[in-house]
Amino acid sequence: MHPENFEITYNMKVLKFGGTSVGSPENMRAVIDIIADGEQKLVVLSAMSGTTNALVEIAGYLHKKNKDTASVLIGNLEAKYKKVVDDLYKTEESKKQGLQIVKASFDTLRSFTSGTFTEVGENTIVAQGELISTQLFTVLMTELGYNAKLLPALEFMRIDEDKAADLPSIRKLIQPVIEKAGSAEFYITQGFICLNANGDIDNLQRGGSDYTASLIGAAIDSEEIQIWTDIDGFHNNDPRFVSNTRKIDQLSFLEAAELAYFGAKILHPQTVLPARVQNIPVRLKNTMNPADSGTLITSESDGKGIKAVAAKDGITAIKIRSGRMLMAYGFLKNVFAVFEKYKTPIDMISTSEVAVSLTIDNTKYLNEIQEEIAIFGDVEIDTDMSIVCIVGDIISEEKGFASKVFNALDGIPIRMISYGGSRYNISVLVPTVHKKVTLQAISDKVLNN
Ligand code: ADP
Ligand code: ASP
Ligand code: MG
Repeated sequence: MHPENFEITYNMKVLKFGGTSVGSPENMRAVIDIIADGEQKLVVLSAMSGTTNALVEIAGYLHKKNKDTASVLIGNLEAKYKKVVDDLYKTEESKKQGLQIVKASFDTLRSFTSGTFTEVGENTIVAQGELISTQLFTVLMTELGYNAKLLPALEFMRIDEDKAADLPSIRKLIQPVIEKAGSAEFYITQGFICLNANGDIDNLQRGGSDYTASLIGAAIDSEEIQIWTDIDGFHNNDPRFVSNTRKIDQLSFLEAAELAYFGAKILHPQTVLPARVQNIPVRLKNTMNPADSGTLITSESDGKGIKAVAAKDGITAIKIRSGRMLMAYGFLKNVFAVFEKYKTPIDMISTSEVAVSLTIDNTKYLNEIQEEIAIFGDVEIDTDMSIVCIVGDIISEEKGFASKVFNALDGIPIRMISYGGSRYNISVLVPTVHKKVTLQAISDKVLNN
């Protein structure tokens, strides 16, 4: 029924299935129906939905030295997986293998309930979700007679000292791992997890399986990267907060990158970059409705005008007021140098004659930064802000576009505006409590008329 020998085509398609897509035995079978089309492919899987959150919670309790609560949560999660194994397989042999996989991961989790707890321990804990889902899935495919091989992501996914993806290493390492696995119709691997520059287990941050898929796609010069999720594609607004959203058929790499960076949860913020550099199409598809064409991301955009809006939470605004120094050249350079020193990227910036305001989302070094910039003037910090980012070919919009946006936002306390920095993006900063009304107002008065 299934061919025994597949010649390895290194530029095979990469398909990533997210948490909901592998979230139940039924959905895992739906994934197999999608991928079993006779074409060799590389399949990246997330953890089953809810698992990474549960693992993060367990690690949190261990961090707080609350071992009893951690043990209870580990027991609950293990019971859930035992049931998954029971429902997933037909044969006793597969069930036995499934239980062994689950036992190995839960033994690892329990090993952290004694002794001291480190960051490596935390990263090892959160990695178990993808380690379990990929192994269980590979056993299922094998039970159904498919030629599926597991590629251990920790043998080739790498990040560098700055925790940035190390694509040259991934490119070098992945081919021998595929060769070692041997000929197969399906290569299954873990999203999200990797090794860092110390050789310790680490990850690509929450939602990172999308990024795994695009990095692997770039590393093997894949012909296409597909991100399969629980919605029919990229919508023009966040469906979690706004009712009347619409799917977008086509986006350019730049548009998708801006939207993902500025909070569109459907794609991890960095996903687009590796694909863009190598001009690999990225297709977003719905596992629950595979017949839908989804969204295609390529170098082309399907038209002019406003495409979509997204919002990024957890933003901190920093205002430096300095009547004396601001106009002096070199002032901004000195301010930026402080952020550079603490490797803290700035998202938005706006200046006036007496003050400069900027935003960051990484507050790890906020205290140090605040202390150092205090020499430039009075510093004011606002937390719990959101950047709402409108993306499209803004410049080509008809005249009066800016007034349309500002009219739509009438009554919303806008803290900062960035317009003209790029022709593709206009961003406003609002307190997060006003995010939902801001998104809805843009939906009603800018996108849908
Ligand atoms: P997965 O587990 O498959 O990675 P995610 O939950 O990370 O799925 O991403 C899909 C979800 O992203 C959707 O269910 C939707 O609620 C949310 N989302 C936020 N913004 C958008 C958008 N602009 N278009 C589509 N989905 C979005
Ligand atoms: N399982 C990881 C998370 O929940 C990675 C992913 O799903 O993309 O963040
Ligand atoms: Mg995701």
